[in-house]
Amino acid sequence: TLSPPVTDEETEAASGMDPFEDTLRRLRESFRAGRTRPAEFRVTQLKGLGRFLQENKQLLQEALARDLRKGVFESEVSEFSISQGEINLALRNLKAWMKDEKAAKNLATQLDSAFIRKEPYGLVLIIAPWNYPLNLILVPLVGALAAGNCVVLKPSEISQSTGKVLVEVLPRYLDQSCFAVVLGGPEEAGQLLEHKFDYIFFTGSPRVGKIVMAAAAKHLTPVTLELGGKNPCYVDDDCDPQTVANRVAFFRYFNAGQTCVAPDYVLCSPEMQERLVPALQGAITRFYGEDPRGSPDLGRIISDKHFQRLQGLLGCGRVAVGGQSDGSDRYIAPTVLVDVQETEPVMQEEIFGPILPIVNVRSLDEAIDFINRREKPLALYAFSNSRQVVQQVLQRTSSGGFCGNDGFMHLTLASLPFGGVGASGMGSYHGKFSFDTFSHHRACLLRRPGLEKIYSIRYPPYSLRNLRV
Ligand code: NAD
Repeated sequence: TLSPPVTDEETEAASGMDPFEDTLRRLRESFRAGRTRPAEFRVTQLKGLGRFLQENKQLLQEALARDLRKGVFESEVSEFSISQGEINLALRNLKAWMKDEKAAKNLATQLDSAFIRKEPYGLVLIIAPWNYPLNLILVPLVGALAAGNCVVLKPSEISQSTGKVLVEVLPRYLDQSCFAVVLGGPEEAGQLLEHKFDYIFFTGSPRVGKIVMAAAAKHLTPVTLELGGKNPCYVDDDCDPQTVANRVAFFRYFNAGQTCVAPDYVLCSPEMQERLVPALQGAITRFYGEDPRGSPDLGRIISDKHFQRLQGLLGCGRVAVGGQSDGSDRYIAPTVLVDVQETEPVMQEEIFGPILPIVNVRSLDEAIDFINRREKPLALYAFSNSRQVVQQVLQRTSSGGFCGNDGFMHLTLASLPFGGVGASGMGSYHGKFSFDTFSHHRACLLRRPGLEKIYSIRYPPYSLRNLRV
């Protein structure tokens, strides 16, 4: 019988010739040589990443506009400033994050030194989606390189223009013996995943997340999975409908709804719905004008395939606001759907577009029940003037993150871990959480060589007298 490959080289050889082999070997060798370990190296790379963002802002902005018709404001707040903020935070804290953490000791280890060392895993693979094509590749990269790893980045093939800048320009700002950007879709990603990595960080759909996790399992590679799902948004009767409508509309239609943490659907009473629909209409008109198609602030759907899928969802329930679409420029109007049944397609899959269904519930209990009989979402929102109501939703449900009385503001804080739970993912990142995610926490105890007299009381023949029971 053939024994499975055990070393990295054997694993490579077993997978035959493929386009990634040389790159991966180069990166592994650099890691083994210890290139990425010194703090100075990490600082240089982080600064290079910052320069990449600053010196190519125009180029990147144009690419984002071509991919998603992402405007300057949305690019600034959701792509550039978040990425730069993470770089700055890592630069400020790197030395402190890298420090050994002292650990508490017991009687038997009083004379030793016990600590947790944050050690790089080695060769890390980061796979990213298309919806925030800069942010979702650069923010994990900050954590991976701050932690001292070598990294392969695989941007999405769907956000083509941004992917092209990443593959052609980014490597010039990083040490190419330690970092590489590779392009490709499912087939190339599949080939890449046959290789052994020391850590895989994946952002994307739950469907592909399962494929990635299965591939990682073959090598026992640990993973972080940043996935998606349907994020509920409970709106209590006791709240100001216009304030809620402004906030929900802003976060639902940002990036044309293509946000993993966007409020996916509203749960409210029929009475609240009656007040909320005109308020949402008002917010949409104020934000994007009478004809949102002409607004420079509304993005477009990423591809024809995604456009067609979303157009299909416009047939669910009854259109209360918007509903227009035009395939020629992949435009979908900010839309509100009412009279939506739980069994309809729009309530089965993550919407990922500018469509907001409202589902009626008669009470808070019914809303919580509705949420809890579905997969655990990435984010959950509750709007109410009553703190108790918000607290109840928080206490009686589970989700990756939670925000009371607003949309996805929680993820703007690098002091909070960002990640899913259950079907919305596993693991988390942002700020120091990223550094920790990409570090192995090595348990270390250093004992001096002498004092054998003291330590020999533990050896056989055993004496119960020496046990402190
Ligand atoms: P996707 O899962 O289709 O693709 C993500 C990445 O996986 C891409 O780079 C793609 O090339 C690659 N991929 C596709 N098929 C593959 C395969 N068979 N094997 C290996 N890799 C493969 O996701 P998407 O359409 O790019 O993004 C949308 C999804 O991502 C949504 O579900 C959304 O909720 C989720 N998302 C999650 C977060 C988060 O932070 N949790 C952020 C953004 C998007």
